[in-house]
Amino acid sequence: IHSNLIKRVQFFSSIFKPKKENKAMNSSMITDLKEAHYQFFKAHKKQSLKVRIDHLKKLKKVLNEKEQDIFNALDRDLKKPVFESFTSELLMVQKEIDAFIKNLKEWAAPKRVSGSLLNFPSQDFLLSEPYGTVLMISPWNYPFQLVMVPLVGAVGAGNTVVLKPSESAPHTSKVLIDILSAVFPYDWVSVVEGDAQVAQALLKERWDYIFYTGSTQVGKIVAKAAAEHLTPVTLELGGKSPCVVDGTAPLQKTARRIVWGKFLNCGQTCIAPDYVLIKSEHKDALIQALIEEIEKAFGDDAQNSKDYGRIIHEKHFKKLEADLKNQKTIYGGKTVAKELFFGPTLVDQPAMDSSLIQDEIFGPILPILSYDTLEDIDEVLTELKNPLAFYVFSQNKKFINTLIQNYPFGGSVVNDVLVHFTNPKLPFGGIGNSGVGAYHGKYSFDLMSHTKPIVKRSFWLDLPQRYAPYPKSISLLQNILKHI
Ligand code: NAD
Repeated sequence: IHSNLIKRVQFFSSIFKPKKENKAMNSSMITDLKEAHYQFFKAHKKQSLKVRIDHLKKLKKVLNEKEQDIFNALDRDLKKPVFESFTSELLMVQKEIDAFIKNLKEWAAPKRVSGSLLNFPSQDFLLSEPYGTVLMISPWNYPFQLVMVPLVGAVGAGNTVVLKPSESAPHTSKVLIDILSAVFPYDWVSVVEGDAQVAQALLKERWDYIFYTGSTQVGKIVAKAAAEHLTPVTLELGGKSPCVVDGTAPLQKTARRIVWGKFLNCGQTCIAPDYVLIKSEHKDALIQALIEEIEKAFGDDAQNSKDYGRIIHEKHFKKLEADLKNQKTIYGGKTVAKELFFGPTLVDQPAMDSSLIQDEIFGPILPILSYDTLEDIDEVLTELKNPLAFYVFSQNKKFINTLIQNYPFGGSVVNDVLVHFTNPKLPFGGIGNSGVGAYHGKYSFDLMSHTKPIVKRSFWLDLPQRYAPYPKSISLLQNILKHI
């Protein structure tokens, strides 16, 4: 049955073309799949933690067996160097699985809380229960870990998952099907391949939870679809993450870390530094240091570097080319359309109303803005508010605290970039335009669980005053309640 259904889902994906005559059939296949998940969840609601943990162990084993397939797929989709595929994709997933295997029993255990004297005597506790069936829609930039990390959370919390990976990373998507169908029954975890139209068809169904990662623009469409059924939703959206540098920290090391975070995966990282905001007097020195670090990492022509990736597809490549038009490129700017190569590029002081500043860049172009006063910084950070990540390089505690306390953002790193993502003890998510909700480790478990507060009462104490007919005066009651 399992392989038949997988075949049906693959068949469905391949035939779901934007033709009207296919629509009814395909929508009904989605409804069938959803129903299969619903029945699975109903039958296994009380599925033991042991079964979940056993499946996570099996998942880890299959990941090890398929390691080379994962690396090959990421190479074919994004020309990801194996080092990056291991550190920023596979390792993240392995760590997440380990965290769940180690802690799931503790996270899932009912938690006692002290009771209220108003209800004395009572036992009060919290029960974490799975929502049911989770729809996950994922992007292409880290097409393996941005699927698997939330999936581990959803499954660990006891949900079933219908996953739609990005159509722009088709090789990774095939490996995901391969891995997940080897570990989970189809009605526990299913992969539905397809484009935006398939995602729209999935969104028409009533799900118990929706977990979406992708652009802010599509996030709004997902949120509207979720609102239709009042389905709870997590939105992991785009970032326009600033990197504020005041010049008090070592500039060369600062430049090295910025270059690493910016050009990893060819700039296609949601938490990559989007732009630099440097104190004017240090601007030239920082630019010099950035150029040196780019060349140390990728040589003087990154096209020949085995450690430099490519842009995902032509549409995105063209968007980046358009972003660069009429800008003052101070380094790089080399592009080779036929191999989707876009070299590391620095741009001096783009206008605030240009697309480079107004939109998320999501590519290897780094604009350098400068400031003189805190007011200048405020103007930029207020205009580009609610980034997914916020980076500040400084040795000045007051400066650091002023920035990290005064501006809203998803998460922050002081004197480095990206690394907050790698600590499963920290929640990862955005705010406002950069998202709603946060996950990783225990935060994923809590996010994908509904917490039921329960009060268990006994009968031996039953104050008659709470029942009608009520006492004529409430002053005694007021006095008592004031003191408990
Ligand atoms: P995208 O929004 O174009 O696509 C993401 C997913 O949404 C894909 O599976 C796609 O098929 C689906 N989709 C596209 N259009 C849709 C529509 N109209 N209706 C329903 N579904 C639709 O994003 P992308 O180009 O794959 O990824 C890039 C964006 O994702 C960037 O903005 C990046 O910052 C963001 N991102 C955020 C995070 C995060 O964790 N916050 C991580 C990675 C990427």
